[in-house]
Amino acid sequence: GGLSPFENEPMVDFTCKDQREAFPRHIAEVRRQLGKTCPLHINGRDVQTSDLLPSINPAGPSEVIGLICQAGATEVEEAIAAAGAAFPAWRDTAPGSRAGYLIKAAQAVRRRLFELSAWQVLEIGKQWDQAYADVTEAIDFLEYYAREMIRLGEPQRVGHAPGETNHYFYEAKGVAAVIAPWNFPLAISMGMVSAALVTGNCVVYKPSGLTSVIGRHLVEIFSEAGLPAGVFNYIPGRSSVMGDFLVDHPHISLIAFTGSREVGLRIIERAAKVHPGQAKVKKIVCEMGGKNGIIIDDDADLDEAVPHVLFSAFAFQGQKCSACSRAIVLDGVYDKFVERLLSMARATSVGPAENPAFYMGAVADDKAMKRILEYIEIGGKEGVILYRSPVPSEGYFVPMTIIGGIRPEHRIAREEIFGPVLAVMRAKDFEQAVEWANSTSYALTGGVFSRSPEHLALARREFRVGNLYFNRNCTGALVERQPFGGSRMSGVGAKAGGPDYLLHFMEPRVVTENT
Ligand code: GLU
Repeated sequence: GGLSPFENEPMVDFTCKDQREAFPRHIAEVRRQLGKTCPLHINGRDVQTSDLLPSINPAGPSEVIGLICQAGATEVEEAIAAAGAAFPAWRDTAPGSRAGYLIKAAQAVRRRLFELSAWQVLEIGKQWDQAYADVTEAIDFLEYYAREMIRLGEPQRVGHAPGETNHYFYEAKGVAAVIAPWNFPLAISMGMVSAALVTGNCVVYKPSGLTSVIGRHLVEIFSEAGLPAGVFNYIPGRSSVMGDFLVDHPHISLIAFTGSREVGLRIIERAAKVHPGQAKVKKIVCEMGGKNGIIIDDDADLDEAVPHVLFSAFAFQGQKCSACSRAIVLDGVYDKFVERLLSMARATSVGPAENPAFYMGAVADDKAMKRILEYIEIGGKEGVILYRSPVPSEGYFVPMTIIGGIRPEHRIAREEIFGPVLAVMRAKDFEQAVEWANSTSYALTGGVFSRSPEHLALARREFRVGNLYFNRNCTGALVERQPFGGSRMSGVGAKAGGPDYLLHFMEPRVVTENT
């Protein structure tokens, strides 16, 4: 007890001189710390390996952010053993005490808010506001899950038959593998890790190879919070070397994953197999891709719709599973909407995220750049390229791209591109727009701009996605306010930052006493 009700951490406010000036200062400060070797962290100790992977600035690939020691099977084995040894004591630590570590971790993150944001600007190319939002989301997860665990930690009386008492309570599963993405390198890592920890599981955490320096900060944050040795272990490594080994390991009881559909489905399939020495059926908490559409009704307020669609599609270069990749526009407003969208797009420019003058920055790496450019090529054949922005010649930049004349059967209307490519589709009426919105294999986010109560009611019923937004952008879900996650091929229905999330990390037990 004793905690105030949950509140979201405030967003950055660039009208404040202090906050505005903090960014360049912290970026410069972080630059002085670049290029260090980043060890693993197993059982409370740093561990060096000889296989080093450089992490680089995507806007200037010659800038090395850090050299990351890569775990092989030996180190994964050690980390899982350490987590397993720490498990009984951690499981039996009172829920309120476990929550206390998260509150301390949140304080540690808050003290370093600008520094942690600056690392993201350089390691993965987030715009200032986007980087800051990632760090505040990490704080929100810590604060929210701490309170959730206190709520769920009380055993409940169930039933009312005379002569017996029944207690229903939750217990941790065991060792959790957390496999994190690069696109929300602190927030999503912290969300999955803190949920696993606060529920009493011990964690082996594999950050993405593209953002392992940010991942390493979790070690410092949890050390500062005083977490006991072995409860949290940091094992960056090449997926090709240690990914399957980690997933297949018989002593893993839970896997929390956020990333591509391809990898997510592979994990689900492999984790179904029971190996010798395995005590538990593995539980998978899995968040995958999206192919999100925003419907523009013919009575939509274009002053709102245009900037929100632009932001949903192109902020952080469209590299969010929540990003809008399809604008489904009603015939009556199509020409006007497109004209205004293009004129706003033309007013933006593309360049390194450390300069806030640029609306859009570099994409994650050379592989992403190649994949996105291929999709632009495909889109140009399927439809008409309406806009393709100029880009700097160095760094992993791809143009901000808007493609018109796209139909539901086209590949760029169906396949997740995970980059700054927006398909624009002309629908004959609202019913067709909803049908098209639902016509992909994903069901993550969606949006509707409309002033018609009937149309919004129809969308509420029939536009089947995990997170549906009316008259606003479709990214930037906030902890507690918009529990985040989808269904179909977008995920297994776990809502991060929502009231059911922690239940996925525990198993319920009942004790019945005959009295
Ligand atoms: N929660 C984020 C949002 O609402 C997206 C997370 C993701 O891309 O994985 O924008």
